Amino acid sequence: MKVTMDEQRCIRCGFCETIAPEVFSLDGSMVARVKMELIPWHLRDLIYQAAEECPENAIRVID
Ligand code: SF4
Repeated sequence: MKVTMDEQRCIRCGFCETIAPEVFSLDGSMVARVKMELIPWHLRDLIYQAAEECPENAIRVID
């Protein structure tokens, strides 16, 4: 599983980081950042939740 984030859409609301801090980070950047290329299986549900709750539909999950 991979995750991509559309930087043009991100509004830095922080929902993704709150839901899955292992994967998403705002740490000073202008947009959220995906911290890992391949997502471990045990984080799968959190990634789907983050994608669903992103208000700008900026997170894409690639199975
Ligand atoms: S939830 Fe979406 S809009 Fe909010 S910080 Fe994450 S990627 Fe950006």
